[in-house]
Amino acid sequence: MLKRDTKKNSLKPATLMVHGGTMRSNFGETSEAMFLTQGFVYDTAEAAEARFKGEEPGFIYSRYANPTTRMFEERMMALEGAEDARGTASGMAAVAAAIQCQVKAGDHVVAARALFGSCRYIVETVMARCGVDCTLVDGRDLDQWQQAMRPNTKVFFMETPTNPTLEVIDIAAVAEIAHRAGAKLVVDNVFATPIHQKPLALGADVVIYSATKHIDGQGRCLGGIILSSKDWIDENLHDFYRHTGPALSPFNAWTLLKGLETLPLRVAHQTASAAAIADRLAEHGKISRVLYPGREDHPDYAIAKRQMAAGSTLIAFDLAGGKSEAFRFLNALEIVLISNNLGDAKSLVTHPATTTHKNLSPEARAELGINDGLIRLSLGLEDVEDLWDDIEAALAAA
Ligand SMILES: *Cc1c(COP(=O)(O)O)cnc(C)c1O
Repeated sequence: MLKRDTKKNSLKPATLMVHGGTMRSNFGETSEAMFLTQGFVYDTAEAAEARFKGEEPGFIYSRYANPTTRMFEERMMALEGAEDARGTASGMAAVAAAIQCQVKAGDHVVAARALFGSCRYIVETVMARCGVDCTLVDGRDLDQWQQAMRPNTKVFFMETPTNPTLEVIDIAAVAEIAHRAGAKLVVDNVFATPIHQKPLALGADVVIYSATKHIDGQGRCLGGIILSSKDWIDENLHDFYRHTGPALSPFNAWTLLKGLETLPLRVAHQTASAAAIADRLAEHGKISRVLYPGREDHPDYAIAKRQMAAGSTLIAFDLAGGKSEAFRFLNALEIVLISNNLGDAKSLVTHPATTTHKNLSPEARAELGINDGLIRLSLGLEDVEDLWDDIEAALAAA
């Protein structure tokens, strides 16, 4: 039988990320075991009956729950201060399930327009096909959230900080507007990381992650998670999750569980590097704008200071010379790699206008502040001086 180690759940994040949620088998293994099993066997027919009735605890089938996946969920619950969670195969499986499980035809969703492209596809296209209307608002403008409310509004959805311009939305204020009208607020907390921002404590009802990003943090596997109260999960997600099958593979859950052990260290290092490089970029003559939530010149600095423990592991900045200068800069980098991923051990840089946000119209890009010279930089674990040398040399070459 598995022994659960629950006495460690009230500790600080660094300790929780090493010990939280651990269940040991009777072999007493140090590292968490990887349970690559689809199903589970029962000693007797009566035991199977009792488990299906929910009268006896235990696992039934890995599409519902799996011991390794459960350890990942419980470690994340401890970090987030959530009562329950479900791991998913990807961040997008988490977003899709978290929204779909609580709406039906005739309902209405309000979302902040600065969304990851696939999130925008779900709220605009998938929801429309199911008869659910969606209104997009400028997330920083509280009046727009208020005015978008309808009697049938069920869900508010946002990312903060946003991709790629790192706009910061006031979670507590938006949660209050949602709750006054009986709607639930779902926050995609990927850019903030669970280390720097706690949406549930700020009033959000549901938090989702792409664990593919900082939680793995070493570029290996896809994963996601949905965290909320036990009541919300029981009422909305429990059956939806079991029967639609977005389950996280136990192999990936194990990888993510090991990723959590180093998450606080990695995020602290990446944030310190981002803060240092943002300050140096702001002084550089070829840079016309630096967007970093930890800097006082960020448009949403006051909100960021209130709801985030630190800036971010990402920076966005504009090269004054537009697309051609931005491309020359990217091509001259030797350590920082060109990739649309983020939160990785390797520093990664992307040109949103021609990649992640190329499907938006030029007007929609302009609305979001995605200029042709905009670069998004995700800081990795390299030495910050090596990174700055690389960036400075590439700026000179651009
Ligand atoms: C990457 C990302 C997702 C999607 O996650 P996947 O694991 O790639 O499916 C969702 N939201 C944000 C903000 C992301 O950065």
